[in-house]
Amino acid sequence: MRIVIATGNPHKVDEIRAVLEPMGFAVVSLPELGRPVPAEPDEPGSTFEENARIKARYYAAALGEAVLADDSGLEVDALQGAPGVHSAYWAGTEGSRADRDARNNAKLVGSMRGIPPDQRRARFVCTMCIATPDGIVLIETRGEFEGVIADEPRGTNGFGYDPHLWIPERAMTSAELSPQEKNATSHRGRAVRRLAYLLLHKRISW
Ligand code: IMP
Repeated sequence: MRIVIATGNPHKVDEIRAVLEPMGFAVVSLPELGRPVPAEPDEPGSTFEENARIKARYYAAALGEAVLADDSGLEVDALQGAPGVHSAYWAGTEGSRADRDARNNAKLVGSMRGIPPDQRRARFVCTMCIATPDGIVLIETRGEFEGVIADEPRGTNGFGYDPHLWIPERAMTSAELSPQEKNATSHRGRAVRRLAYLLLHKRISW
């Protein structure tokens, strides 16, 4: 079964593909479709769920086939859930993905200055949605990945805020985990395994 993923983020594609392909799904990212695709829609939602729905419906309608969208981000308790749905562009929209990640991480460290160790809880959240071209939502799932914000970046794997999310049970940041280890417990790994379970066991297809 073919699944088109509505993201141009190669890290997300790798993480999703690593779970779905061994289960027999053929995962196709937008750049791999080999045809023009519309620019990303605005994400005006106030929740990850709303934004994943907006992206899935928008691309499914544009492409004429069912599409899987992922919306994700970091929620920091001491920042009342920020950056939340604004995680990708929290410190501005300019520059490459790597530039934005660097500025976002600098903003995170600055925002957490003076916050004591026991008040640094945070989590990555990922919601996934599969929608059809006529706007029907077939599946929605959510996964979370709990940790603590570390001032010092550690690790070079992953992307985004990974070097600053310390996972106490592993005594490592998310960026120090191997891709396999991250997927085993991460927000995206959990969300995509739930999605695969529903596809396989509830016999949802299109
Ligand atoms: P989205 O493309 O709107 O889902 O934006 C997600 C943003 O949240 C990314 O640009 C990252 O800043 C952050 N994010 C989401 N998932 C992860 C992750 O697995 N590791 C690190 N940062 C993440």
